[in-house]
Amino acid sequence: MNPPKRILKIISFSIDAFIAKIYLQLKKERPALVIPYFHAILPNGQSSLPIEIHPNSHANITISNLRAIIEYFLMNDYQFIKPRDLFVEKPSLIKNMCMLTFDDGYFNNHSVVPLLNEYRVPAVFFLSLNHVNENKAFWWDVLYREEAKRTKSIGEINKEIEYFKSKTATEIDLFIRDKFGKKAFEPWSDLDRPFSLKEVKEISMDKYVVIGNHTLNHDILTNYSFEEAKNIVQTSQESVEKLIGVVPEIISYPTGTTSPQLLQIARSCGLRIGVTTNPKKNYFPIGDNWGGKLALHRFPIKGHPHSLMDQLNIIRSDITLRNFLRT
Ligand SMILES: [Zn+2]
Repeated sequence: MNPPKRILKIISFSIDAFIAKIYLQLKKERPALVIPYFHAILPNGQSSLPIEIHPNSHANITISNLRAIIEYFLMNDYQFIKPRDLFVEKPSLIKNMCMLTFDDGYFNNHSVVPLLNEYRVPAVFFLSLNHVNENKAFWWDVLYREEAKRTKSIGEINKEIEYFKSKTATEIDLFIRDKFGKKAFEPWSDLDRPFSLKEVKEISMDKYVVIGNHTLNHDILTNYSFEEAKNIVQTSQESVEKLIGVVPEIISYPTGTTSPQLLQIARSCGLRIGVTTNPKKNYFPIGDNWGGKLALHRFPIKGHPHSLMDQLNIIRSDITLRNFLRT
């Protein structure tokens, strides 16, 4: 991000933090479902950022961040739900709800499970199946560390990552293997590796864990033909069922991008809920947006301790500068 853009972002965040604080003191927020999303769980209190995963992955948090987030929503009378709760006959549901989601299937997410049990809150873990099957590191982490070794700046690396978001998984894999060698996809540690098959089976037995579809190879589905995308989603559904005995009801579209065709595909593969990365609340009736429940909105939450409460207030506030500028 260039410096002026960065400064504008900081200013608009500060304004929104101020608006949210005042709004929440004066008004009762409109009931809605809030869906935060996270990627990696970082060790508590680590003084420097780990070198094996992309540092800007905008939703990496520590377990103490997550504890603070859960306590914040509980204190504000939110009910934590799992996807199925959106379909209960008579929802007791005209109240604020929160659904926690974790994308990609990083092994480091295992540390979330005891916390879910401690607070009795559910969460959805979206798996990219081939990563689990092959113990393969995620391409954005590989690209980050390999390019960083070659002294590329984070700005340049991020530009490269953006470029690859218009490519298929095979194209990205080929590029990385060609440039950095086939060993580049080997995980470096427990921090960057995906869950193993055995570990997925284990966590899936937990009553607070829901497993969701995140495609086979973190495929950005809008980069494929209708038939290819359908095949990916369907095969992922079958692979998860084979692994844990349950067919997913929910999909997280990699990078959050979806389209009317993808919604049709998701529906035809038996999915009932889909989540994007459009940072908005889901007001009642839930799914009253263009894609219905197959395109629910989600917020990233960054693990900066000093801004965490402001971020959470902004998520709950029904008025923000950001939304105002968008409309
Ligand atoms: Zn993802």
